[in-house]
Amino acid sequence: MQNELILIVEDEQKIAQILVDFLEMDGFKTKVLNDGENAVEQVKELSPSAVILDLMLPHKDGLTICREVRQFSEVPILMLTARVDEIDRLTGLGIGADDYVCKPFSAREVVARIKVILKRVGKSINTDIVDSRLIYKNIEVDTEKFSCHVAGELVELTPVEFRIISTMISKPGAVFSRDKIMRSCYEDERIVSSRTIDSHMKNLRAKLICDTDEESLLHSVYGIGYKVE
Ligand code: CA
Repeated sequence: MQNELILIVEDEQKIAQILVDFLEMDGFKTKVLNDGENAVEQVKELSPSAVILDLMLPHKDGLTICREVRQFSEVPILMLTARVDEIDRLTGLGIGADDYVCKPFSAREVVARIKVILKRVGKSINTDIVDSRLIYKNIEVDTEKFSCHVAGELVELTPVEFRIISTMISKPGAVFSRDKIMRSCYEDERIVSSRTIDSHMKNLRAKLICDTDEESLLHSVYGIGYKVE
């Protein structure tokens, strides 16, 4: 928990400063942006542990920033809004924020919520490595036996599919580009089209669904690639 960077995007300097004070008191590092213009780039560059994002910002609003960040990152986002009814509207839009806090707020509460989010994320994105097995949620990949189980059921994978899932499951939440996937699954570096990757992913995705799940843990990320989460 110590020294994790929290990016604060807030144009009201007083509010930003209170958040900085309270977060730093708790051992976090902070970075403040006073407008929305470069927020997305800064998330890319700094890869913060979480983002506190105000809704109304100069140049680019929090809604747009949140949507753009979700194109490439699952970083936890806590949205600050000025009105309670905005929270309902935003939740309805499904913009992908993790939590919402209405102004005026107590900084203590915001810090507490950030900690809750970080705990939740930390728990869900860790892969347990037990001897030769990689275990994430209900998927278990054994790199010695070349086996893959989903919810305890053995799943038959092709060698390429097996290499893909072994690579991706070691980093849950991380987005893998088609290039990266290609490099990880074809040792002889032969050139395959990105369509080939897509068809492998489609098959793999279907195989990783178990009876009790509605969707696979393997997701496509529009315009970028794929992730396991
Ligand atoms: Ca504002």
